[in-house]
Amino acid sequence: MINVRDLHKSFGDNEILKGISTHVEEKEVVVVIGPSGSGKSTFLRCLNGLETATSGEIEIAGMTLTDPKTNIHKLRQHVGMVFQQFNLFKHLTILENITIGPRKVKKIPAAEANRIARELLAKVGLVGKEANYPDELSGGQQQRVAIARALAMGPNVMLFDEPTSALDPEMVGEVLQVMKALAVEGMTMVVVTHEMGFAREVGHRVVFMDDGLILEEGPPSELFSNPQRNRTKSFLAKIL
Ligand code: ADP
Ligand code: MG
Repeated sequence: MINVRDLHKSFGDNEILKGISTHVEEKEVVVVIGPSGSGKSTFLRCLNGLETATSGEIEIAGMTLTDPKTNIHKLRQHVGMVFQQFNLFKHLTILENITIGPRKVKKIPAAEANRIARELLAKVGLVGKEANYPDELSGGQQQRVAIARALAMGPNVMLFDEPTSALDPEMVGEVLQVMKALAVEGMTMVVVTHEMGFAREVGHRVVFMDDGLILEEGPPSELFSNPQRNRTKSFLAKIL
């Protein structure tokens, strides 16, 4: 589903990604961990075209992202992204937040878009919130709306960038629960998170990024209990 070969990304003279190569299978859940500033967000942003790679190759959902002929708007329909800050449209209702993409971008008729949105609201446990505005919801509820909004486009892959980091602790579980259900259904997911419980329980593979490179990767059970690299060991010692 995702193939990354020798991905480099610089901002000016500053090389942030220094040659990332990895692949993600269909239905695989990959958890990305690593110190702040190691390039995790930049990596995810490259995967959905929010940043342009400086060099290297990215294939995702059947499209070659690094081919200049690839339609980036089309690609984004296939690659959903959920951010730390939920970025909901404050002046739109919950239902409108979910339907605006399908209606404007995919030209889905209103009735059909509303039907899909209601199904997704049920899936994320927010039946009855259709007419509310984002400010009227808790952080955990807003993040679940953001997940429903991404799913409304019918993506093949979902990218999550620290989706629970901005939440009060009591709301973390409800968001992880929705993500877990999505994984169980077979969604292909790349998740940047330091929620190690989620990584252990849901992740098929954990990737440790440090200073713009993948330093080590493996099944959570192996990587957490028997890290090979000193950098991985010292990072895990801080977060486990
Ligand atoms: P992480 O998500 O692992 O904390 P990021 O990918 O956000 O790391 O950032 C890695 C480095 O890239 C940081 O030093 C950050 O300042 C830099 N960076 C990220 N985005 C930009 C940008 N748009 N312009 C310049 N530097 C950036
Ligand atoms: Mg980040």
